[in-house]
Amino acid sequence: MTDAQTTSVADLPKVELHLHLDCSMSFESVAALVPDMTLERYRAEFLAPRKCVNLVDYFRYLAAPLALLQTGHALRIATIDLLRQLADDNVIYAEIRFAPHLHRRDGLRSEEVVEIVLAAVNEGKTLYPVEARLILCTLRPDDTAQGFEILALAEKYAARGVGGIDLAGDEAGYGLAEHIPVFRRAADRGINVTAHAGEATGAKSVEEVVTELGVRRVGHGVRSIEDAAVIDLLIDHKVHLEVCPSCNIQIGVFRTYADHPVERLRKSGVALSINTDARGPTDLTLRQEYQRIEATFGWTRRDFVAASLAAINASFLEESLRGKFTHSLVELSGETEIGPSSSLEIPTTNQVRT
Ligand SMILES: [Zn+2]
Repeated sequence: MTDAQTTSVADLPKVELHLHLDCSMSFESVAALVPDMTLERYRAEFLAPRKCVNLVDYFRYLAAPLALLQTGHALRIATIDLLRQLADDNVIYAEIRFAPHLHRRDGLRSEEVVEIVLAAVNEGKTLYPVEARLILCTLRPDDTAQGFEILALAEKYAARGVGGIDLAGDEAGYGLAEHIPVFRRAADRGINVTAHAGEATGAKSVEEVVTELGVRRVGHGVRSIEDAAVIDLLIDHKVHLEVCPSCNIQIGVFRTYADHPVERLRKSGVALSINTDARGPTDLTLRQEYQRIEATFGWTRRDFVAASLAAINASFLEESLRGKFTHSLVELSGETEIGPSSSLEIPTTNQVRT
């Protein structure tokens, strides 16, 4: 057994595809913006209870971070601090999402919001060894025009670090009609897409985003487990699920960690990765999430590395960088024997371009 094999799963190099900027404010970043902030007040205002009534109830705890994230200074502090948190988690590649139009209350334009966050990511990358792309969210209650604006921003900044778009927000309260034209245009323009589904509502919502929005990545998607036909659909279309167990449990989708279907989904052959979703309101690190999965379902180091490799396969990283991160993951984890048995495609050396 090598040294690498004896270290904790929490220390593994990681990839995180699903985390929200406005749901990831640490006490440190809030205190940097609100000088008289106390840990007690942070816990009361920025962290949601361990059990919320539902997703909409949980959304109440986004009011405090969103109220702060209305200036360039605050967006810069929060973004750089998030890269620090990712580096602490040994995340080597992350996709950070946010809805630019939620940060316009004090006069910023959506374009400025994206430019500020992109600049902060670049600044953070000089301080911490993390690569990152942004995902811009349109929200369920938004209309088509708003979605087109988000898509245009993703297109404009694609070469500067925006990886694609997402559909987020209250999936139980709003359907897809307004968003279908946006996702069709995204497909025409070659813009990467993902969408939240299968968390607050059932398997049908996952089927809808796959068939009607054309996504090959789903945020959560865990309630697919309720319908074997949807599981088959995910496997047939090689759909990747961005799984975030602790968040699902916090909003009451599953009662306990042991009830979560992550292991059943993995065993069924669905491609998935492990993510925090919301480090702030959920009070969570990716290290902790790995430890919970290990403790509850007995995942091995190899299982976690396989999930991270699946994340790279499904990522919005440029093709030219995927080989590099695939090799970094394998090398840094010491799990060099992961290969076809994990249904992963690891490029050969001559395919790797940096
Ligand atoms: Zn999310």
